[in-house]
Amino acid sequence: MVIILKENSDSAQLENLIAWLETKDISIHKSEGENSTILGLVGDTSALDIDMLQALSIVKDVKRIQEPFKNAGRQFHPNDTVIDVSGVLIGGGNTTIIAGPCSVESREQLLMIAQSVKKSGAKMLRGGAFKPRTSPYAFQGLGADGLTLLLEAKKETGLPIVTEILDASQIPLFEDVDIIQVGARNMQNFELLKELGKLRKPILLKRGIACTINELLMSAEYLLAGGNSEVILCERGIRTFETQTRYTLDLSAIPVLRSLSHLPIIVDPSHSTGNARFVHSMSVAAIAAGADGLLIEVHNDPACALCDGQQSLTPWTFDRVAKSVFAVAPYACRERI
Ligand code: PEP
Ligand code: MN
Repeated sequence: MVIILKENSDSAQLENLIAWLETKDISIHKSEGENSTILGLVGDTSALDIDMLQALSIVKDVKRIQEPFKNAGRQFHPNDTVIDVSGVLIGGGNTTIIAGPCSVESREQLLMIAQSVKKSGAKMLRGGAFKPRTSPYAFQGLGADGLTLLLEAKKETGLPIVTEILDASQIPLFEDVDIIQVGARNMQNFELLKELGKLRKPILLKRGIACTINELLMSAEYLLAGGNSEVILCERGIRTFETQTRYTLDLSAIPVLRSLSHLPIIVDPSHSTGNARFVHSMSVAAIAAGADGLLIEVHNDPACALCDGQQSLTPWTFDRVAKSVFAVAPYACRERI
């Protein structure tokens, strides 16, 4: 971090600032130019409040040289993180498709979808048991019974399961869940992230609908700082002025995240487009842009789905999408710029 001081700044205040920084185990390199004085801060500056420094009367500007996400960033962790979920790898050049219904609705529905997506090449099963719905009157999910059905489907098909947690009080119920999903609406629920950081279980962290890439990485930082090293980032679309799609899939987040972070990147073409017709092209595009995998909603009868039917693929369409995805994967651009 670099602090640029105002011209003729008060020397007593400057000495106070330097002394205070030294109490934080930060050493200071002071360079005095003709017109300005610059302080170079050496040490762990991640806990320093940049806004507070900027507000000091002797300070003209403050610049971070190192990113504030030291655990999620590549600087101290140059190699890609690869997460092993019972033999299914996420990251490190693998293309992993997670598929299943938006919500678990019944045993028959879940098993039928699980078996068909497995046949098409999906390596994990998704399904919401606790659903974060915009309307309190909409289907809220089967809750704990939904989790029981997911575990049954896992036993039947061998597919590890991914499902969303809404609140830290639900953690004991998720013991046998393979990957815990933190939904877009909870990306900045820091108390939940702190609790999940204490677990030793992979977390799929979805980008908030109005959150920047840096904010996503800072949320990942909460999990990593707690000691949970198995974090998967998920781009699921952000809110823009466009109304033709449910959200706007930020494809450029893929190469940006790859360059900033070592964590695996999954793309959700279902929630981002909100329309089954656009899922095929966005799935192929995401893999071509270097995503490590996809999270795709599939329903055996989308017209009657209790949640997100409009964006759910039929098992037949999912099979076509999976074929295109695996065909394009060897040509994906995974460059780090
Ligand atoms: C989901 O995956 O079911 C979901 C609710 O996604 P998001 O949090 O991205 O809206
Ligand atoms: Mn959904």
